[in-house]
Amino acid sequence: MKFLICTDLEGVACVVGSAGQPLNREHKQYEFAQQMLTKEVNAAIDGLRSISSDAEIIVGDGHSDGTANIIYNELRRGVQILLGVPRPRQLSVLDSTFSGVLLIGYHPMAGVKGGVLSHSFSSASIHNMWLNGRLIGEIGLTAAQAGSLGVPVIFVSSCRAGTEEAKEWIEGVETVAVKEGYGRNFALSLHPEDAQEQIRKGVARAVERIREIQPVKIPPPYELRIEYKLESTAEAEVRARGSIRLDSRTVARRSDNIFEVY
Ligand SMILES: [Zn+2]
Repeated sequence: MKFLICTDLEGVACVVGSAGQPLNREHKQYEFAQQMLTKEVNAAIDGLRSISSDAEIIVGDGHSDGTANIIYNELRRGVQILLGVPRPRQLSVLDSTFSGVLLIGYHPMAGVKGGVLSHSFSSASIHNMWLNGRLIGEIGLTAAQAGSLGVPVIFVSSCRAGTEEAKEWIEGVETVAVKEGYGRNFALSLHPEDAQEQIRKGVARAVERIREIQPVKIPPPYELRIEYKLESTAEAEVRARGSIRLDSRTVARRSDNIFEVY
């Protein structure tokens, strides 16, 4: 079996960031978040291998510029690592030969109550996004893009709000909530090692139940509506991409290929 582990940094245990500052390398929680993500990815790898001992595993470094957010030399051996930007497309190596995608350290969409570090791709510029009329964030869009290739997202770890969002999009998905958000930068977290143990067990359950977890299938055509925070960002996108302007701050990207809308 072949798996892609997609990663982000905001949704790992004991990380809440702080208001008005992205979780970048200058942030005092960055180094700790890197360590947590590395350990949570290792827990996911252990979970996969506990059921599928010869699983082929690719780990994607997905936060920000996709480099060095995971401590690569501390990952379990035998996996391959996908890193860097610009990405040719989202989920660059994924095709229909994969059995499943796992999302580790993910965060809820912008504006969700109690969503720790919630945002949709850019906390600085994007207010809301809708796919074919339905409010969507990174978890939903990743599930829909993988689903268009016939591959299910089988496991998601995030804060509680992120796991609820995952369940709304993906029927039967296994999830682990590593923290409970009471604000965008305030949470009650599991102990890191308890989070890792739950991830290992949850991933194993996901592989055991993989036939019950269906790919998210949304038929084309696709319209991704993006409401920016600033009018100037919408204007710049219309000039650069030829997107359709819907109102002063909102644009629409339309295509029959879901990878072309984001
Ligand atoms: Zn991120």
